[in-house]
Amino acid sequence: MTDYQHHWKDGTPVHLSLGKIVCVGRNYAEHARELNNPVPDEPLLFIKPATSAVHLTRPITLPHNRGAVHYETELAVLIGRPLTNASASDAEAAILGYGLALDLTLRDLQSELKAKGHPWERAKCFDGACPLSPFVPVDRLPRDHQTFTLDINQTRKQTGDTRDMLNQIVPLIAHMSSHFTLLPGDVILTGTPSGVGPLEPGQTLSLELENALFIETQTLASADD
Ligand code: ZN
Repeated sequence: MTDYQHHWKDGTPVHLSLGKIVCVGRNYAEHARELNNPVPDEPLLFIKPATSAVHLTRPITLPHNRGAVHYETELAVLIGRPLTNASASDAEAAILGYGLALDLTLRDLQSELKAKGHPWERAKCFDGACPLSPFVPVDRLPRDHQTFTLDINQTRKQTGDTRDMLNQIVPLIAHMSSHFTLLPGDVILTGTPSGVGPLEPGQTLSLELENALFIETQTLASADD
C-alpha cells in the first residue's frame, strides 16, 4: 500500500489528498511518431489510480517479470479547485503548482492490450506506476512555458517544452472537466515528449524542471528478484 502524500518543494505537506491522476496520451507529435501511433484529433485520456503514486524522491522499485518497464517523463499539474465543465479561466485559476512525474508503463503488455483493443490499466496502473515529485507553487514559475529534462546515468534521454504540446495545459484541463469532474488534490499528467525507453535496475535518474526543481533517484530490482 502506498503512503504517498503531496508535498511542496520546501518539504511542507500539501493538505489535499490525491484522488486520481488524469493523463493524456500522445500529446507531443514526436512521441506519437516514435511509437508509430497516429496523432489523435482530440486528447486521448486515461486515469492512473491514487494507489499508483509513490514519491519520486525515493528509489523506484521496478516490477518483476512483466516485460519492458518504460519511463515517460511528464510535467505534472496539481489541481486546487473542483472543476466541472470549466472555462479556460476557471481551469487556469485551479492550477496550484507544477511538478514532474514518471508515467511508468509496461510497454510489452500495453502493446498486447492495444493490439486487442483492450484498456491499458494493467500496463499503466500498477502500484508504483506513478512516481510524483514535490510541487512548485504556480507563482514561482514562468507563466509562458516550462521546459523539463530526464537524464539516465548522466545521458540526456528526454527534453520537454510545453510549447510543443498538441493540447496546451489550460484547454486540456478544461476539456478533461467536460468529461468528468476534477477535484482538489487530483493531478494532471500532460504527456511525454519523445525519447521514451526501458528502465533497468541500478540506474541513476536525474529530472529537472528548468530553474525550479531538480530530483535525483535510483532504480531498484523488485525485492522478490
Ligand atoms: Zn504518458
